[in-house]
Amino acid sequence: MDYRLQRSSRKTLAVCISDGQIIVKAPNRMSIAHIEEFLAEKALWIAKKVREYNAKTAALAPVTNGTSALYHGMLLPIVPTTTAKACINGSVLYLPVKYDTQEKRDRAIANLYKKLAQAELADKLYRISASTRLSYSGFALTNARTQWGNCDGTCSIRLNWRLVMLDDELVTYVIVHELCHTAYHDHSSQFWALVQKFLPNYKAIKKRLKNFSVLTTMYR
Ligand SMILES: [Zn+2]
Repeated sequence: MDYRLQRSSRKTLAVCISDGQIIVKAPNRMSIAHIEEFLAEKALWIAKKVREYNAKTAALAPVTNGTSALYHGMLLPIVPTTTAKACINGSVLYLPVKYDTQEKRDRAIANLYKKLAQAELADKLYRISASTRLSYSGFALTNARTQWGNCDGTCSIRLNWRLVMLDDELVTYVIVHELCHTAYHDHSSQFWALVQKFLPNYKAIKKRLKNFSVLTTMYR
């Protein structure tokens, strides 16, 4: 088994999978034999986590390598065009040939997504707020690299513009989650009970959303 060993003054042994790599955190003096014995015991769990990571990255590889784009949960091929602006037409994302570096292409896609997100997310937030009767004080897009949305103490909601890449069920979950924060500014059991009231299967959706976390760092 290929793994990276990180020794420190910690007292216990731990293993985690980060970016598909097996990382073992061990106390400074612990013997390799002891560490390998521990890994052998955890082998099934490790194999499962690595398999999950590989499946997740394979599914999103066309997006992360820049050959396709994701919009509303659908994979769209990126096709070069001589027109002036990037646009989505049918199930294709047309990208002007003048954007001749990956950086420029990423920025063009980001600008297109931000424009779409401003209208789409504002509308969806408004509609879900009306149906759940949870009101918010303001809305803005965010460029956060670690989260899909947030709700501050004044009940102003920010949504990551990259949400336009995700399917309706995932976007609905993020919006319901943030709207429920207008009632509870924490992740208490009351908070999750409220989320569950609107989305009885929220746990499965929340788990599925994790598969897309790599997207929050895209098109910087
Ligand atoms: Zn939250």
